[in-house]
Amino acid sequence: QAKADGRNTLCFFDPEMQATVIERATLEAALRYAIEDQQFIVHYQPQIDKRSNIIGAELLLRWKHPERGMVRPDEFIPLAEETGLILKVGRWVLETACKQLKVWADQPYFQNLNLAVNVSQCQFREDDFTDQVRQILEETGAPPKRLKLELTESLLIDDIECSINKMHSLRALGVEFSLDDFGTGYSSLSYLTQLPLEQLKIDRSFISTLPDSHNDAVVVQTIITMAQSLKLSVIAEGVENEAQKQFLEQHGCTNYQGYLFSKPITVTEFDAFVATHIPLHPHQN
Ligand code: C2E
Ligand code: MG
Ligand code: MG
Ligand code: MG
Repeated sequence: QAKADGRNTLCFFDPEMQATVIERATLEAALRYAIEDQQFIVHYQPQIDKRSNIIGAELLLRWKHPERGMVRPDEFIPLAEETGLILKVGRWVLETACKQLKVWADQPYFQNLNLAVNVSQCQFREDDFTDQVRQILEETGAPPKRLKLELTESLLIDDIECSINKMHSLRALGVEFSLDDFGTGYSSLSYLTQLPLEQLKIDRSFISTLPDSHNDAVVVQTIITMAQSLKLSVIAEGVENEAQKQFLEQHGCTNYQGYLFSKPITVTEFDAFVATHIPLHPHQN
């Protein structure tokens, strides 16, 4: 439409664009205030192994907005990243995870649970990120090996040498890494072997079409085989039904996360989930 009429090609006062700018500014202001006002909470989504044991949870950020209600991360993380506000929020999420790990460390049914935390690109890129993690671990007294940092391929590929070095310095603290949304990134296999990873996390988009989509079935099988060859553990995200779980199980995927087991829940609900969780197949290997 704009192209058809040459005079409108440069349209500075597009009301739609103006609305977007205003909305963005409003959201940014609200986000700044939210940090001060402590409007963020975390939810815990259980992770399950093939014996139906709970192995831990992923921390998922939620913004409890006073008027808009619960705002999902996809709606504010991109802006939080652009504005750098994610640094403060990300730090808070890490502290929350480590405090929780410390609480669990003294409880019999909880002490072996792992917590996976999503790390954003600008957070990981910070010069002192390793020091931040070290400091948080020390201050909270959390067992480092229970903390799993979720990184994405695109985050790492940006400056692969720097990423590898940073991962090694974090690894030295005892923390582990999971490669999140695996399969959706650039998937250069040459760097995969260089990363000190513990786990590959198969992206939900490949799981949702199982077992009907031949293409996705092949992708999933390939990722599982690759993980096995590289001696990495593998977890599937977004497992919603038994058929998907069965396919994954049959092809050697040993860990699962998704609505089939539980949606992301509050820590109180998670405690209850652990306490009342009866394995579906307790005697299976
Ligand atoms: P992600 O790390 O890939 O997290 C998985 C997403 O899939 C979560 O969405 C989760 O609620 C959703 N999910 C889990 N199981 C199922 C399922 O069975 N079916 C369906 N349809 N969805 C499922 P959520 O919580 O909206 O988070 C979206 C993304 O926001 C996350 O993707 C992650 O990239 C980012 N994020 C969440 N929390 C944080 C955080 O604390 N820091 C940073 N930097 N990013 C975060
Ligand atoms: Mg994640
Ligand atoms: Mg993911
Ligand atoms: Mg994903």
